[in-house]
This record gives sequence, structure tokens and C-alpha cells, in this order.
Amino acid sequence: THFGFRDVPVGDKQTLVNDVFHSVARRYDLMNDLMSGGMHRVWKDVMINQLNPPRSDAPFALLDVAGGTGDISFRAAKASGLGFSATVCDINTGMLDVGRERAITHHLEHQVSFVEGNAEELPFADKSYDAYTIAFGIRNVPRIDRALSEAYRVLKPGSRFLCLEFSTVDVPGLDKIYDLFSFKVIPPLGKAVTGDSESYQYLVESIRKFPKPPIFADMIREAGFSRVKYELLSGGIVALHSGWRL
Ligand code: SAM
Repeated sequence: THFGFRDVPVGDKQTLVNDVFHSVARRYDLMNDLMSGGMHRVWKDVMINQLNPPRSDAPFALLDVAGGTGDISFRAAKASGLGFSATVCDINTGMLDVGRERAITHHLEHQVSFVEGNAEELPFADKSYDAYTIAFGIRNVPRIDRALSEAYRVLKPGSRFLCLEFSTVDVPGLDKIYDLFSFKVIPPLGKAVTGDSESYQYLVESIRKFPKPPIFADMIREAGFSRVKYELLSGGIVALHSGWRL
């Protein structure tokens, strides 16, 4: 059975994405380490540094959308003071279940909560968060523009939007290695660890289809954000976009 990822209609895309993450949830964290050679930890730390959550007791509410098993929220909680709280919002209950268990292991169950929800229609009030993060999530969302307007809606004026996402490498030499890795290593590795190579085939294709960093920056501006910028990490394997709701 081949999913035929390339031309799926919007409604079917979300179903496909849900199947992918449902089938890999239990092995998701291990796969992240294997496939990125641990680099996802470094990229996530760059995002947390930019987020720069307060180390004081001042209240600070983070919304971590497509937060999956909670990595960004746990890292942010560890870098913050006692006023910090995070809401992990994800469409997939399998990922959220793993996240809830991890919160207990990290002793962060009082600071980090888990809510099922769709990035395109967030179940939160207007202007209710001090920051919005989305890491390796937005390329899975069928209607990116809706997710961006929702991000803007739930943020308080004066607060920050941060998005970490895979990008395409354009460093000569590195691009060849990256292609080889994407098509020859990732799907078989995915199959070996999770029993599912199609999910990882999806991963590779979804990265290729995602808008290039300057285009994505324009989309963020269109959603209303100001001072939008991006930086490329690891030769462009990953892009970190940010903006402010003023
Ligand atoms: N942010 C986490 C991290 O960096 O480890 C998880 C990233 S994981 C690659 C992508 C997540 O996006 C999955 O948990 C998936 O369920 C979630 N997702 C996909 N479509 C979504 C949507 N429309 N709304 C919210 N979450 C979604």
C-alpha cells in the first residue's frame, strides 16, 4: 500500500498525518535521536535560547503547538523560573499520551499540560499566551495560513511567535549527502525501528514540499506578525522563523 503523498487533498492530508504519528508515537523520541544524530536537541536549544523565557517567578504562558511528546515545553520549563507554564497542543492523542508520561518522569506535570487540538482551530481564547512555539509541526498542517492566523489570534500583543522547521539544504556537496540520507537512509531506518517505512517516506516528501524560508517568512507577515526574520541552522537543514505580535 502506497499512500501517494504527493497529491492528497487537504482533508486526506490530515488523516494521513494522523496515521503517521499514531503509528510512530511510542518510538518517536528514539527516532528523532537516530535520524538527526542527536542534532534535534541542538536545534531545539537554539529555539529555547531565542524564546528566552523569564527565569523569575513572573507568570509566562507558552503555547507549544504540534508539541507532540512535549520536548519544547520541557526544555523551556527547565530554562525558566517558577512562573512558567506550558500548554502542549497536538492533534494526536498517541503523541500526547507519551508526553503526559514523560512530564511525570521529568517532574514537570504541574507546569506542563497537554491538550488535544488542531493548529488550524486552536481551542484557546484570543490574546491568552505570552509565546507560541511550533517545532517540526507546521509542515504537517494542511492549511498553513490558518495555523498562522490562529497563532496570531491567541498571542497577547507584545509576544513572540517561533517556528522551527526542516528546510532544504543548498550548500553544494551537503545537498547531495542530504538527498542520499533522506531517500536511502531515513525510510529504511524508520522501518527498522518503527516497522513503518511509509511514515518516514512521508516525512521526507513533506520537507521537500514546504515553502522555502523567504516565502514562509512572507506568509508569517501576511498573518499579521511584525519584525519577521529567520535564521538557517546546520547549512539550512533547519530554519528558525520568528515574529512578534505587536
Ligand atoms: N514538536 C514536537 C517535537 O519537536 O518533537 C513534535 C513534532 S512532530 C514531528 C509533529 C507533530 O505535529 C505530531 O505530534 C503531529 O501529531 C502534530 N500535528 C500534525 N498535524 C497537526 C495539526 N493540524 N494540529 C496540531 N498538531 C498537528
